[in-house]
Amino acid sequence: MRMTEAPYQVLLYYFYVEIADPDAYRDEHRALCESLELLGRIIVGNEGINGTVSGTVENCQKYMEALRNDPLTAEIEFKIDPEQGHVFPKLSVKSRTEIVTLGLGEEDFSPNETTGNYLNPQEWKEAMDDPNAVIIDTRNDYEWKLGKFKNAILPPVESFRDLPQWIKENREMFEGKKILAYCTGGIRCEKFSGYLVREGFEDVNQLHGGIVTYGKDPVVQGEDYEGQCYVFDERIGVPVNSKNPSIIAHCVHCDEPCERYINCSNKHGCNEQHFSCASCEEKSQGCCSDKCQAIISETIS
Ligand SMILES: [Zn+2]
Ligand SMILES: [Zn+2]
Repeated sequence: MRMTEAPYQVLLYYFYVEIADPDAYRDEHRALCESLELLGRIIVGNEGINGTVSGTVENCQKYMEALRNDPLTAEIEFKIDPEQGHVFPKLSVKSRTEIVTLGLGEEDFSPNETTGNYLNPQEWKEAMDDPNAVIIDTRNDYEWKLGKFKNAILPPVESFRDLPQWIKENREMFEGKKILAYCTGGIRCEKFSGYLVREGFEDVNQLHGGIVTYGKDPVVQGEDYEGQCYVFDERIGVPVNSKNPSIIAHCVHCDEPCERYINCSNKHGCNEQHFSCASCEEKSQGCCSDKCQAIISETIS
C-alpha cells in the first residue's frame, strides 16, 4: 500500500526533556489531541513525553507540527505508519513519575545525562555480526514471543521494571562484551543502556529508533529480524523484515507457525495472550488450554 492511499496514520514517538509541570502539560496536551480527534496513549512526566496515537493524515501532520513548533520538543522524531483507520479505542493522556517504568526510584537518572552509544540501523546490522556482540531484547516476554532479532538474548521478564534484577543475576553473560540493546521504538533502551553504563559495563550500544526504525530503513529492510514487532494497539503485530522474513510463533494447540495473538476466553481466571490459528481458536473456544476451556464450559452450562 502506498503511503498516500492510507487515510490515517499511526505515530510513535518519545522525547526525553525536562517538563517542569507535567500535570499542566498533560492537560494542555490532552486538549490538543482532542481538538485533532487523535486516539491513543500518551504519558507525560518530569523527564519527558512518550506516546503513540492514531488519526487522519491531516490531523497527524498538524500534531507533529505542533510538537516541532514547541521549543521544548522541537527535536522530537516520529515513526509513522500508514493505516486505514484508528488503531486505538480511546484517548488516554496521563502524567507519571517515569515515562517508561524501570523502577529505579532514588537511583533514577536522565538518559540525557547517561545513555549507551546510538547505532543507526546500518551500524546495528554490522554490529550484530561482531563475534564479541551480545544482543539483548529489553522488551517483555509476550513481546519477543511474536518476534525478535536473530540470536538475541531474551530475558524472561513480564515487565521492564524486572530487567535490572535479571541483569544482576546474569551479569557474566555481558561482562567484557559488546552489548547491543534494542526495544520497539528506542525509548526503553535510552534508559536501560544508561542503566548498564551506570552499572559499569563499558561497550553499551542501543538501536536508535528501535525495531520500528530498523524495519523502515531502505538499506537493511529489517534483515535478520525474525517474526513481527509487537505493538501496543489493535494491530498487535506489525511486519519488520522485507528481506528474509520468517515466523517464529506457533499455535499453542496444533504447533503450526502462527502469528494470531489472542487473549484467552477465560477472561477472569487467565486472559493469557497466546497464539492460536483460526480453526484451533474455534475448537478451543478461544482458550489457551484444556484447563481454561473446562472452566469456561462450566460457567456457560
Ligand atoms: Zn492451531
Ligand atoms: Zn487460559
